[in-house]
Amino acid sequence: MARYTDEQCRICRREGQKLFLKGTRCFTDKCSIARRNYAPGQHGQKRAKLSEYGTQLREKQKTKSYYGVGEKQFRGYFEMASNRKGIAGENLLQILESRLDNVVYRLGFGTSRAQARQLVNHGQFEVNGKKVDIPSYLVKAGDVITVRENKKDNVTIKANVETARPVPAWLELNNETLSGKVVRLASREDVDIPIEEHLIVELYSK
Ligand code: SF4
Repeated sequence: MARYTDEQCRICRREGQKLFLKGTRCFTDKCSIARRNYAPGQHGQKRAKLSEYGTQLREKQKTKSYYGVGEKQFRGYFEMASNRKGIAGENLLQILESRLDNVVYRLGFGTSRAQARQLVNHGQFEVNGKKVDIPSYLVKAGDVITVRENKKDNVTIKANVETARPVPAWLELNNETLSGKVVRLASREDVDIPIEEHLIVELYSK
């Protein structure tokens, strides 16, 4: 039996949009959304109209998939966001953007969040001079993320940085020293895929 290797693309197709889960392939014409933009499965080409609850649920699932976060942790982020000043949905996105694996991805050290998570797990980075191998670590404004001195020859990181996408305005990359600075925390405008965060707030507020 053929081994199925397209699991992440199925997630994008289910959500009907690119979630950039596969690194460089997402930016090529091999992207499954570019070729088959309909839900996977036998009845995938007939998209059923969703109920209000279904729409809210899909938005949450999509956001969880985009950031690669499990349900329990995502719920925890929502509680954290609700307890902060400001708009809960925007706070939630800011918290998700602040995860170390996301920051490593945004800086271009990893081609996908999944790869960035693996690099963090393998102890490739330090934050403000201290080794951090926890992908969910939340960065703060002013933090400096650096590839650790004894990991600077990592061929994957070096190749990724050379072919990296533009770094968002809230981060600053120094590709000579393989380090990045959090200039400020991400704002709503910095999230680059369409997310209707109010639907997630409505879902959790039921
Ligand atoms: Fe697959 Fe990436 Fe395209 Fe999503 S965006 S369908 S993960 S190639």
